[in-house]
This record gives sequence, structure tokens and C-alpha cells, in this order.
Amino acid sequence: MAMVRVRDTAPELALRRELHRRGLRYRVDAAIPGLPRRRVDILFTKQRIVVFIDGCFWHGCSRHRSIPENNREWWAEKIAATRTRDHTTDHTLKEMGYQTLRFWEHEDVNTAADIVEATIRRALD
Ligand SMILES: [Zn+2]
Repeated sequence: MAMVRVRDTAPELALRRELHRRGLRYRVDAAIPGLPRRRVDILFTKQRIVVFIDGCFWHGCSRHRSIPENNREWWAEKIAATRTRDHTTDHTLKEMGYQTLRFWEHEDVNTAADIVEATIRRALD
């Protein structure tokens, strides 16, 4: 398993489809100026809202944390590094005036869409 960004995962596509169905428009896999070497899963440019759908394995979801037995320490370090990077990314985005919403891939798509939609509507007020 390579440490590359997996594009267009099923949970990500499901959320995008649901948001689109609700009439929301966004950019996907977007680069943000000032945020080097990072791409965001879903970007609402005007509202400055960013959405990430985090994979349970790579991002270390507490419910589905299952570190492989082989090379356990190496995996644990990889996952910890990803989490640290997530925090740094969130912090940087906040400093840049973006609001970040993160969801686990295991989360219900409608619940996630509700939260995104409410956040967008609030931002538009
Ligand atoms: Zn999970």
C-alpha cells in the first residue's frame, strides 16, 4: 500500500453526489494557494469552506483502528504522522480564513451532507 492520496473513494463520491443533489456546487480535489502539497477533497470557494472525508485506516479512526500486525510500529508511526499532518492542515486553513469540516468515511452520508449544507447556508447569510 503506497502512501498516495486515493482519489474519488466511494464515501467521497457518495457525499459529493448527495451535495450535488441538494443543489450545492463545489470544486473537488482542489489546490488552495498558500497551502502547499495539499489538496482538499471538496472546496466551496466563495464560502471558504473545505470538506475532507478521512479514510478510517490512514487517518486512525478510533472505531476502526486496526493496525496491521506486521510492521506494527511502522504503521502506527505512519498513521500518527497523517493525523499530525491533518491537524497542521486544519490549523493553516483556519489561519487563512477557511472553515474545515472533516468526516470519517464510515459516517452516514446524509448526516454529513446535512452538516455541510447547514454550514454553507449559514455562510451565505
Ligand atoms: Zn471509522
